[in-house]
Amino acid sequence: MEGFAYVLHRFVMHSRLGWNWHESHHRARTGWFERNDLYAVVFALPSILLIWGGLNGGWGDWATWMGAGVAFYGVIYFGFHDVIVHGRLPHRIVPRSTYFKRIVQAHKLHHAVESRDGAVSFGFLYAPPVERLKQALQASREAQLRRARGGSTARHEERA
Ligand SMILES: [Zn+2]
Ligand SMILES: [Zn+2]
Repeated sequence: MEGFAYVLHRFVMHSRLGWNWHESHHRARTGWFERNDLYAVVFALPSILLIWGGLNGGWGDWATWMGAGVAFYGVIYFGFHDVIVHGRLPHRIVPRSTYFKRIVQAHKLHHAVESRDGAVSFGFLYAPPVERLKQALQASREAQLRRARGGSTARHEERA
């Protein structure tokens, strides 16, 4: 599930198509919900369907377990991402272990970028060392600046 979440976040949510919903998560939230929450609804559906099919539809135990696995990841994800990192529910959890601190910091670095491109760290339960993420972030910022500068001189030349 973590691998799936990584691919989804990196290549779907940050793609031109997926950004439509995910953008709300890279902006300040103005109410209880954000459009990005629709992803959670979308992934709850197959989970519910699999559990239902496993228990009542004669699909076999694998379906129940798979549906439960997806639901379990969803709960862990919500607890870590929405509650601990983004503080959507009040809590007093202070990350103390090295691993815990690392994944929290890594996700904060993911939010250092408000645009669709140039973000780092798309996973949730696994994150590369923070130093490496900072370097990657720096590199992508510089690349973006170069592109912006390149773009503006190109426009400049066009006008000239
Ligand atoms: Zn994102
Ligand atoms: Zn987030």
